[in-house]
Amino acid sequence: MAVANRKFRMSKIIVLMGAPGAGKGTQARLLQERLRLPQISTGDMLRAVAQARTALAEEVRAIQHGGRLIPDEMVIRVVEDRTAKDDCHDGYILDGFPRTAAQAQMLEDLAARQTKKLSAILIDVPQALLEKRMTGRRSCPICGEIYNVYFRPAKADNQCDHHPEAQLTQRADDRQEKVRVRLETYERETAPLLDYYQGTGRLHRVDGTESPEEIYGDVEKILSNEVVRAQSSASPKRD
Ligand code: AMP
Repeated sequence: MAVANRKFRMSKIIVLMGAPGAGKGTQARLLQERLRLPQISTGDMLRAVAQARTALAEEVRAIQHGGRLIPDEMVIRVVEDRTAKDDCHDGYILDGFPRTAAQAQMLEDLAARQTKKLSAILIDVPQALLEKRMTGRRSCPICGEIYNVYFRPAKADNQCDHHPEAQLTQRADDRQEKVRVRLETYERETAPLLDYYQGTGRLHRVDGTESPEEIYGDVEKILSNEVVRAQSSASPKRD
């Protein structure tokens, strides 16, 4: 369904929910490209923080590699700073935030301050598939191309198709034992937020086992229906 981007131009926060490996990053990138709203990935921002040679970076790296969550105060600060930038004025896409009740509360306050409407979209994927997506993921250290040993293997074992000189690498937190920790953390800390968004009528679900383009089509329908609903509730009623 081709819907003009203009139709989504109401100031809003699109929250992509789902377990690690559900495909939030892929959908966030498609939304960013097509709606021209910035994608805010706390995982990526925190990985950038972890690159520095400081004690803080070392701490962030250790937590991320262990598959555990970074303390709320730090993530909240990162999100507040990022969403205060000009490019977030018309709205933004959150990927990987909120992950705890405290973060969800902060986001409510932020949305109220910024007078933005929030929509949560759950990308639903069964656990067994999530495990394979994460433990099978490899990437090229030169071009960043992503492969998967189960679903999209490289032509030659462990070598990038474009850079045969490069050995593919695995993210430290994609190792089996870390994946277990990440999925358990999701079930314990983040899954309860789904009930919260459901209870406030702002949760939508899409089938995350479909192809990225099919999922995107479903997401687009949800956003487009929301705009129509918002417009009809804003227009004056006739007798
Ligand atoms: P992701 O790339 O979204 O899977 O995030 C990778 C890692 O970054 C997580 O396992 C956490 O250690 C950290 N992280 C990302 N987002 C958050 C968040 N909202 N709260 C706490 N930790 C986070």
